[in-house]
Amino acid sequence: MDQKNVLFTIFGGTGDLARRKLYPSLFRLYQKGDLGEDFAVIGTARRPWSNETYHEVIKNSIASFQPSNKEAEEFASHFYYQSHNVKDTQHYDALKKLSDELDEKYSIQGNRIFYLAMSPNFFGTIVSHLKSQGLLNTNGYHRVIIEKPFGNDYQSAADLNDEINQVFTEEEIYRIDHYLGKEMIQNISAIRFANLIFESIWNNRYIDNIQISLAEDVGVEERGGYYDKSGALKDMVQNHILQMLSLLAMEPPVAFSEKEIRTEKIKALESIRMFSEEEVRKNFVRGQYVAGEIGDDQFRGYREEENVDENSLTETFVAGKFLIDNFRWSGVPFYVRTGKRLTEKGTRINVVFKQVPVNVFKDSVTGPCDQKSLAPNILTIYIQPTEGFSLTLNGKEIGQGFQTDPIKLEHRNSSDIIENTPEAYEKLLLDALNGDGTNFTHWDEVAQSWKIVDRIRETWDKDQQTPPGYRAGTMGPDEAYQLLEKEGRHWVWEPDEWYRQRGLLK
Ligand code: NAD
Repeated sequence: MDQKNVLFTIFGGTGDLARRKLYPSLFRLYQKGDLGEDFAVIGTARRPWSNETYHEVIKNSIASFQPSNKEAEEFASHFYYQSHNVKDTQHYDALKKLSDELDEKYSIQGNRIFYLAMSPNFFGTIVSHLKSQGLLNTNGYHRVIIEKPFGNDYQSAADLNDEINQVFTEEEIYRIDHYLGKEMIQNISAIRFANLIFESIWNNRYIDNIQISLAEDVGVEERGGYYDKSGALKDMVQNHILQMLSLLAMEPPVAFSEKEIRTEKIKALESIRMFSEEEVRKNFVRGQYVAGEIGDDQFRGYREEENVDENSLTETFVAGKFLIDNFRWSGVPFYVRTGKRLTEKGTRINVVFKQVPVNVFKDSVTGPCDQKSLAPNILTIYIQPTEGFSLTLNGKEIGQGFQTDPIKLEHRNSSDIIENTPEAYEKLLLDALNGDGTNFTHWDEVAQSWKIVDRIRETWDKDQQTPPGYRAGTMGPDEAYQLLEKEGRHWVWEPDEWYRQRGLLK
């Protein structure tokens, strides 16, 4: 059976995600031959579009690749539109009829991938109808790709999972966390497991702390309604941040396979300490952006944003400390932070190594400043927008006297390379096509992540406090700095300082 012969059905085919990510990604796969000629896509949504309208949408969404007219036409000819209300049982009968016709026309042999690019409220309804109306009565493979958010807390995620499990097995479910499709996230494993110098010191004897920062410079934009119910903790920490943390903290897998990696990631998540309410208050801080400016750019506060409650208590920033109770990580804090309207867009990981046992240079310092302690070695993994890594080492400053000087060895992927690397969604769609679930989240990971996040959320909900404000354009509230300072540490990445030194930021 050729896996490439496939019928995709995209629920939410008129939506933003489909247009911005899914159609362009399918086109790239088509161009590269990863999708042959024997595939078809059904786009469904409520709007009464014709196939012609749909083809125009498809062509517009791939226009930036500048395909020839012929190529664009040929690609678009694989797409079919079916107006569909997901709550209406009869519509599934029409969908089945069209699916069976296309199966025949393209010799698809019953392979079906369903992409749920819609509000999660509908996931349960859709999958139960797929089964009851016979859309899964074919001989090929059946897979379902599910967008985040997967549930709203542990209980809702478990209920949703039970519903989906009535129809699809765990192996058939592909839960998207698009961060897992990013090149440098996948590179974490290469850095760790292909380099003796790192894996041998990847533990609490040599690492002082690990910092994960996921900063957005934008505000909530048009997603105010959704975001105000979610907040930074559920929107970012439950999925992307805990996924990155588990890849950094997991034990080396026996093999680089879906099963082995998932097993190790789950163990890492299960080793994260469940904090008591008191510990949550001590180790986690939140913030909400207020009006601010960088240079001439003015930004309004969160409560002034569209569709946001003017008394909202929702956090737009979280910083916190996780502890992992196992032999490898005991005593090493994993500091995380994420937020909107921060100074710069950027995701990076800083692995801060411990000091050398004795600073033999401390008495021979003859340079201009008294250098009692050495700068730590730091491994930085840049995930976006630039991709690459750097390592900070101490050398001797050139010249008279003896002063150590931190030097940075750096590798950044060039913008040419980045432009030509597949987008996260493209990689993930290809993985789903090949039946490889490595870069998707297993239910056990989702469940454990929700349990960790629920504990924090419940504590905050009990406290009902207004999150401390931070000016738009800064890197979060004072409390986020104090979190590390009280432990004698500081955030390695400080883009705000650059702007402050130039008088662009207060
Ligand atoms: P959207 O609002 O742009 O699109 C929703 C789609 O669902 C539309 O095609 C709409 O017609 C369809 N729809 C709504 N109700 C329907 C009904 N009763 N019957 C049939 N169709 C119906 O949303 P989006 O931004 O494309 O996001 C879709 C999902 O992906 C959401 O779960 C979102 O959280 C997630 N997501 C989106 C992005 C993104 O970049 N947009 C990123 C990550 C995750």
